[in-house]
Amino acid sequence: QKPVPSDIVISRSCVPKPIDCLAREVGLLSDEVELFGKTKAKVQLKIIKRLQAQPDGKYVVVTGITPTPLGEGKSTTTIGLVQALGAHMKLNVFACVRQPSQGPTFGIKGGAAGGGYSQVIPMEEFNLHLTGDIHAITAANNLVAAAVDARIFHESTQSDKALYNRLVPLSGGQRKFSPIQINRLKKLGIEKTDPSTLTEEEITRFARLDMDPSSVTWQRVLDTNDRFLRKITIGQSPTEKGYTREAQFDITVASEIMAVLALTSSLEDMRQRLAKMVVATSRGGQPITTEDLGVSGALAVLMKDAIKPNLMQTLEGTPVFVHAGPFANIAHGNSSILADIIALKLVGPEGFVVTEAGFGADIGMEKFFNIKCRYSGLRPHVVVLVATVRALKMHGGGPTVSLLELSSKNLELLEKGCSNMTKQIENAQHFGLPVVVAVNAFKTDTEAELDLVCNMAKAARAFDAVRCSHWAEGGAGALALGQAVQRASEAPSKFKFLYDLELPIADKIRIIAQKIYGADDIELLPEAQHKVELYTKQGFSKLPICMAKTHLSLSHEADKKGVPTGFIVPIRDIRASVGSGFLFPLVGTMPTIPGLPTRPCFYDIDLDPETEQVNGLF
Ligand code: ADP
Repeated sequence: QKPVPSDIVISRSCVPKPIDCLAREVGLLSDEVELFGKTKAKVQLKIIKRLQAQPDGKYVVVTGITPTPLGEGKSTTTIGLVQALGAHMKLNVFACVRQPSQGPTFGIKGGAAGGGYSQVIPMEEFNLHLTGDIHAITAANNLVAAAVDARIFHESTQSDKALYNRLVPLSGGQRKFSPIQINRLKKLGIEKTDPSTLTEEEITRFARLDMDPSSVTWQRVLDTNDRFLRKITIGQSPTEKGYTREAQFDITVASEIMAVLALTSSLEDMRQRLAKMVVATSRGGQPITTEDLGVSGALAVLMKDAIKPNLMQTLEGTPVFVHAGPFANIAHGNSSILADIIALKLVGPEGFVVTEAGFGADIGMEKFFNIKCRYSGLRPHVVVLVATVRALKMHGGGPTVSLLELSSKNLELLEKGCSNMTKQIENAQHFGLPVVVAVNAFKTDTEAELDLVCNMAKAARAFDAVRCSHWAEGGAGALALGQAVQRASEAPSKFKFLYDLELPIADKIRIIAQKIYGADDIELLPEAQHKVELYTKQGFSKLPICMAKTHLSLSHEADKKGVPTGFIVPIRDIRASVGSGFLFPLVGTMPTIPGLPTRPCFYDIDLDPETEQVNGLF
């Protein structure tokens, strides 16, 4: 067999079709498409109305076993599968995937365009700035952060009256509220629009948000793996008059605004979610929102283009939506609802939409069902669970660090490690859907190893288990998978959620920990206990749960492989993402911005100034 060239060499050797041609092919009208050069386009949301009456296609989610740090090929399989269904089986298809963060692209994991002969192209466009959506999120997020601290600062240095006079300035001899200020007045129960009629008491209530600086939960973000921003002190310049505060940066893809983008259903809905985001608690115990800060309209303006899904293509010319990119361990890990809604309409009832949920089934898939599907109302038909021999050997007790060693043949380790796959199949079955296991073959795998994994998957009552070679062969290598998925999609759907939203916060967390992770119980540490009480009092207890947990183990400890038992999941803290609509328990000490390793991927990345070609991305 010929060696497979590097991802960027394969990507570059394929001439993509002009994106306006692809847009026409998939049934988009020219006035629904905004071109970004020749290979990317944004799709306007008005298409949803035009296709309202069209029945949806079949909805497939790709997930995986607990991975090694390198990933086991979910993105590659998502792309290989749509290439098989579309280019080979001639069905209408769409892949809906996340936009990668530049953290991993320059850090340890590389890009996320798939790999080998199953990729989104051009991969450098995909992996770097795309159409700027992540930058828009960073801008919007940090505007809120600046607004929070500036407001605390201004309130600390001014009387109520002076504050009010500045918030509602004289213009042509008169004071006038902005529409956002009128919304705030309504929230305070003050049904007035004429500033001259406010009483002293109303002026104080209106002007002072009285945020407790120690209660600020809104963090600054950056799309870079900069570990030195995990804890910072802000306000150290003398101009801030001693108002310093400990704060932190998160990675942009873990921000609430990213989650809002991924979970929203329309421009109006996004505007409302952006207004509801809670940034802090007042000294009187009230949640303070972005609307209270007056910044919600500006956020909607910054995000108005980001809300439109981005159209790209695979190496075999099938369409892909790239939209939103939350991480799966420290965020909810799924691409946007809007892209899925549009794609399901475009493919029609015989077609397939394949989307990927990040990391293992205990992480991205659980959140796909319990958060994304709850908000979208969409019901999936099939789960594809990606497994690799190398990761299963690791779960059987093989080395985790030197992955090369894992390629040596060892059926005993492999059989033992299949316990992780069995548990992840069971996790998918909790939701009542058929599971097709895709064994992503590496060139070092033996026949006996691949057969063993397929047999173990069938023994675990997977609907089917097939080996795939789409990394080395493109869509042709995933034909058996495509056929298995088509058969599985005809099985009657018995979809159900894992937990009821009405349950108390701790019960919902416990159900996830026990049923999905296999834990004995959870332990709420004091900060988390305090938040349970606070959020219950503030009326946020009915939200779904978005666990922030390591993706490298079913448990909260990354080095526990296979199927850990006899553990208690410690919940250190809980944050409320009220705008995106979930509670976010932090398990153990998960950092919310990754760091760079000693030798990051960026050592290999360079530009050829002659050709303007990007080298070294993978
Ligand atoms: P995930 O989405 O599960 O994180 P990816 O699809 O991004 O995983 O794959 C991780 C890396 O492994 C990528 O660099 C990809 O090119 C590579 N890869 C995936 N499948 C194979 C395979 N069968 N053989 C060799 N490399 C592969």
